[in-house]
Amino acid sequence: MTQTQYRQFACLSDNFGVIVHDPDSGTTVAIDVPEAAPYLAVLNAEGWTLSDILITHHHWDHVGGLAELQKKTGARVVGPERTRQKLSEIELGVEDGDHIFCGPMKVKALATPGHTLDHVTWWFEDAGIAHTGDTLFALGCGRVFEGDPEMMWASLTHIMDTLPDDTVIFCGHEYTQANARFALTIDPDNADLQARARKIDELRANGTATLPTTMGLERATNPFLRADDPTIQKRLGLEGAALADVFAEIRKRKDNA
Ligand SMILES: [Zn+2]
Repeated sequence: MTQTQYRQFACLSDNFGVIVHDPDSGTTVAIDVPEAAPYLAVLNAEGWTLSDILITHHHWDHVGGLAELQKKTGARVVGPERTRQKLSEIELGVEDGDHIFCGPMKVKALATPGHTLDHVTWWFEDAGIAHTGDTLFALGCGRVFEGDPEMMWASLTHIMDTLPDDTVIFCGHEYTQANARFALTIDPDNADLQARARKIDELRANGTATLPTTMGLERATNPFLRADDPTIQKRLGLEGAALADVFAEIRKRKDNA
């Protein structure tokens, strides 16, 4: 089996477009559509025919180009069941734990509410690729708009419990450099984080994307996943507190940063 390919490209001001391609079957899958034109340009340049569009959540900067891309490609659109009830382009709705097949690729939906109530993370289990939308970012996590911190922490835990460390992770936005600066205020003595922050500065100085990341790298350096770390708890004055409360404090500090 030839290895699964992917393309990541800029959309809008700081969103990512992502396309996953299976060379053997020709199956091509878009995840979220901030705008249609960059997707159509990549499909055209690669000579790929879009088969499926997967949606993570209902925000306009993830579905703004959906109607146009669907119309121009005829691809099947799959999204959270809750979003399907609002967005007529979504043909098939999924709930937590459901899986679909895009050609031969098995893709699992993990419900990850908190940023929004409908949010799902898409996991290409055999290819070892996931798209976490606006739930997990490189060194960050999404703002909690529709859910509450407990819900968001449960979703991040769901991701950590499910995805192996070598999973390649895409997400909705290039926020990593600002996230790194904030992460260092929460976890300043973490050598892995310090090294990663330096690398991120180099990448951004060259205008290079900092994504995709991996589950293992996030586990080691993302403070929003490290509520159980005694050093972080101590720094926040929350030694032995409930992990959701530690997470809520980190999220609050980021919101006010
Ligand atoms: Zn969003």
